Amino acid sequence: MSEATRSGRPIADFSGLRWSAAGFHEVAPRTADELCRIVSAAHARGMPVRTRAQGHSLNGSTLPAAGELLVRTADLREVRFASPGSVTAGCGTVLWVLQSVLRAHGFDLPVLNDGYPGPTVGGYLAAGGFGPKSDLHGGFWDNVAGLTFVDGGGRLRGVARDDALFPWLFGSMGQLGIFAEATLEIIPLEGAAQYPEGKALEAPRLAEQHVPLQFAPRGDERLFWFTLFVPDEGLAEAQRELLALEARHAGALRFAERYCYPIRHRGMVAPLVYPEARPFTATGAWGWLGDASREAVEKLLAFDRGFMALAMSRPGYRRYIQSELPAGPQIYEQCFGRAIYEEFRRIKSELDPQNLLNRGSVFAR
Ligand SMILES: Cc1cc2nc3c(=O)[nH]c(=O)nc-3n(C[C@H](O)[C@H](O)[C@H](O)COP(=O)(O)OP(=O)(O)OC[C@H]3O[C@@H](n4cnc5c(N)ncnc54)[C@H](O)[C@@H]3O)c2cc1C
Repeated sequence: MSEATRSGRPIADFSGLRWSAAGFHEVAPRTADELCRIVSAAHARGMPVRTRAQGHSLNGSTLPAAGELLVRTADLREVRFASPGSVTAGCGTVLWVLQSVLRAHGFDLPVLNDGYPGPTVGGYLAAGGFGPKSDLHGGFWDNVAGLTFVDGGGRLRGVARDDALFPWLFGSMGQLGIFAEATLEIIPLEGAAQYPEGKALEAPRLAEQHVPLQFAPRGDERLFWFTLFVPDEGLAEAQRELLALEARHAGALRFAERYCYPIRHRGMVAPLVYPEARPFTATGAWGWLGDASREAVEKLLAFDRGFMALAMSRPGYRRYIQSELPAGPQIYEQCFGRAIYEEFRRIKSELDPQNLLNRGSVFAR
């Protein structure tokens, strides 16, 4: 079993703007059983647990406070071909790495992040998850058949797609448990590929790389994104509003062309992502921060406040808050709305009654 080690060095997340405390313990389980034993032991001692995958989020929720136990999921990378039409992957597997494993066997993932390798199966699930092919295949919640996770008491639980809890896990930001394994739907690349039934392997590990903002070389400045979910018919108006916001905050970022990912509705609603039973589109602004000066960061935060005001301005708008910079209980209550936030709290109180998991990130300590 992996031993917990004490770490003296603070760590950052993808934002490069926030840091952990210096004195925390860390451990990297290799199996779901190890994960259970680790969380059970932490539960018995009342020790808060922080979950971190690749740290490709911006909101600081992967950064341990002093004395917390950091559970790194990077070694949960077993991949199994157990049942045709699916793959079962350890939740520390980077999605793009999993895709490359699948492609080598003639299969593909219907939905994964755009950009480049970063988010893991578990981190993407904890954010919600959509991608370039969501117009065909829906959200990540439409493409996961089931999963296992370890709750705040250290119990391993299995959740199938028809379980009432299932849709609440998408976008839950490590609050309800630590995802161990997920069974994902897969599609053939072309024609009929031979399903490698029974095959198991360990996916390659991708090293985390986070250059603190003050050391980032010019030309490799930090990327920030601001995603707004809007009803499909409101897209043109939302894009006009975004353009106007960018114009008001010219200089906040080196803005790139606004993105646009339609997300098909296939019957399931993930309430923490978008609470309405309808197709919607993820659109947004993104770009690079010019430098790490206080003035540049202030401009970024001012843009963020403007973006939040836009996200709150219409009932059908929703911010993809799980993958963005703002954080803290008030922010999440504002973005989810009172009713969903309270239901989320109720579910957490059942699964993590001691409030040990990612303490203080979404709900007050
Ligand atoms: C380059 C890039 C491109 C992106 N593109 C997209 C995109 O196209 N679509 C999209 O939907 N998102 C996208 N994102 C956002 C990304 O999916 C989220 O920020 C995601 O949470 C990062 O995953 P991670 O594995 O690095 O998790 P971390 O950043 O390590 O963790 C994020 C949160 O998830 C929790 N968590 C991580 N693993 C687990 C687990 N196994 N069990 C329970 N909780 C866990 C952590 O505690 C934390 O709260 C992108 C991010 C980057 C950096």
